[in-house]
Amino acid sequence: MDHHDYLAWLSEIDDLSSYQRIATVRLLAGQPSLEAVIGLLEERIGTARNCPHCAAGGAVIRGRSNGLKRYFCKICSKTFNALTGTPLARLRHKDCWTEFAGSLSDGDTVKTSAARCGVASSTAFRWRHRFLRAVTAGAIKLRGIVEADETFVLSSRKGERNLDRKARRRGGKASKRGVSHEQVPVLVAADRSGATVSAILPAVSAAHLQAVLQPVLDQDALLVTDGCTSYPPCAAAMGISHEALNQTAGERVRGELHIQTVNSRHERLKSFLRRHRGVATKYLDSYLRWFHLAVLPRQPTPRAVLAAAAGILPVRPCA
Ligand SMILES: [Zn+2]
Repeated sequence: MDHHDYLAWLSEIDDLSSYQRIATVRLLAGQPSLEAVIGLLEERIGTARNCPHCAAGGAVIRGRSNGLKRYFCKICSKTFNALTGTPLARLRHKDCWTEFAGSLSDGDTVKTSAARCGVASSTAFRWRHRFLRAVTAGAIKLRGIVEADETFVLSSRKGERNLDRKARRRGGKASKRGVSHEQVPVLVAADRSGATVSAILPAVSAAHLQAVLQPVLDQDALLVTDGCTSYPPCAAAMGISHEALNQTAGERVRGELHIQTVNSRHERLKSFLRRHRGVATKYLDSYLRWFHLAVLPRQPTPRAVLAAAAGILPVRPCA
C-alpha cells in the first residue's frame, strides 16, 4: 500500500464500530481467532438485514446459534444466519476454518489439510469442495490485447467404480496421442493486466468459445490466438478484432502479439493439477476455482480465502 492509500485507510478507522475495532486489533496482532472468522462471516448480513428466504429487510436478532447471530424475519417468520443459503451453511468447527483457508491458500493435499486442521480426511475433502463452490471471479472484463488458447487435461474418473477400462494409476497418460474423448479442453484467456478467465469447454467449437468469451471481452479488445479454426468465426460472431499467429509455421511472436501469457498460465494450471495427482473430471471446475483463488494470486491470506468462500468478496484478479 502506498503512503497516500495508507493515510486514507487510517482516516477510516474513526468510522469503525467498537466490534470492528476489536476484530481489527486481533487481525493486526496476527490472531485470526474464531471471533475474527465469525466477524468476517457476519459481514455478509448488511445493515438492511435482508432475509435470504423472502428478500424482505429488517430482520431482528434472536440470539446466537453455532457462534453466529440468529436473525428472525418478521415477514416470513423464518430464521437465518450469515451462512444460510451458502455452501458453508451447517459446516461445523468454524474455529478451524482460518487454518483450513490457509491450507487452501498453500494448495495442500487433502491429507495435509486434514492433519493441519485436526479433522478427518473425509471432512477436509468435503470442506475443500464446499469452500470452493461459492468462489467467483466477480465481474471480470478482459481489455486491450487478450490472449486465448485451450489446453487439454486428461479426463479422469478417479474414485469411480465400474470403469469400462483398466484404471490408470495416479494420473497416467492417455492411450491415444492428441485430442480425443480422453482429453477435456480448458480455455484460458488473459489480458496484459493479468486478468484471467478459464473455463471447461464441452468441445472446442466457435459456439462454445463464444459462450465463455463474449461475457468477459471488452468490445474494443484485440483477441490473439493460435491458428485454431474455431476462433475466426467466434470473433466474427462477437464483432471482436482478431489476430491469429501461425504457430505451425513457427510464428510465436508478431510485434506485441503472442500467446505466451496464457501458455504460461496453462503450465501453472497443469503443475497445480499434477500436484493433486490426476483430478477427477467431475471436480475439475472446483480445481479451476482453486487455481484462480490461490495459485494465480500467489498465496492469498486465509482471510481473503475465507471471504471468497463465504461469497463476501470475489477472488483477486492476479497480476
Ligand atoms: Zn423472510
